[in-house]
Amino acid sequence: MNNLDTILQSNLSTIMCPKYESLPYLERQRTRLIMAADGLYIQSHQIWGVLAKQLWKSPRILPYGKIKEADTFKDIIKNIVPKILPQFINEIHKSFSDKKEWQGFIVLDNDCQYKYEPVEQNLKRTKATYQTPNPNIVVDIHTHPGYEAFFSIEDDNDNWGGVKISVCIGSAPDGSLYSIQRYCVEGFFFPSSDWIL
Ligand SMILES: [Zn+2]
Repeated sequence: MNNLDTILQSNLSTIMCPKYESLPYLERQRTRLIMAADGLYIQSHQIWGVLAKQLWKSPRILPYGKIKEADTFKDIIKNIVPKILPQFINEIHKSFSDKKEWQGFIVLDNDCQYKYEPVEQNLKRTKATYQTPNPNIVVDIHTHPGYEAFFSIEDDNDNWGGVKISVCIGSAPDGSLYSIQRYCVEGFFFPSSDWIL
C-alpha cells in the first residue's frame, strides 16, 4: 500500500468485525470504523470515555460479527460537567449580560484531573477567538448571547477533527439559559439528550 494511504488509514482505520472471535482491542486515543453484521459503526476510545455508534444500517445481514452501541461520554455530561460548572458559571452569565460570545474548555490534565481551562477571549470581536486548543479537551463550551442555542456551520468547522463533547448555551425567548450538547467524533456529530443547563 502507498505510504500516504497507510498514514491516512491509520488515522481512522476500518476493520471487519469478526464473527467467531472478539474484536481486536482498540488502543486509547484511537477511533476506528467497524463493519458489523447490521452495518457500519464508529468506535472511539478516549481516556475519559468510550463511544460506539451506528453510522449506517445495512438492508441485509452482512457476514460479520455483531457489536453493540456504547456510550460512557454521557457520564461526563451527567457527572463531570456539574462538578466543574461552578468554576465558570459566572463567565457564562457575564457573556449574556455583556452580549459577548464566550468559550471555555473542560480538559483532562496530565494528572488525569478534570479542570476548567479559560480561553483567551478576544472581546473586541463578536465571535470568540481562542488559542490553539489543548489536545486534552473533553468538553468545549460556547455561548450564543441573546439568541437560541444551535450548532452553526462555524461550530461544525470548529468541531470537525478529533473527539470531544461540544456544548452550546443560548437563551430562550423568556431570557432563561439552556444548553444543547453533541458528541463530536472525527467529523461525525451525535446529539445528546442529556443537558447541563
Ligand atoms: Zn455556536
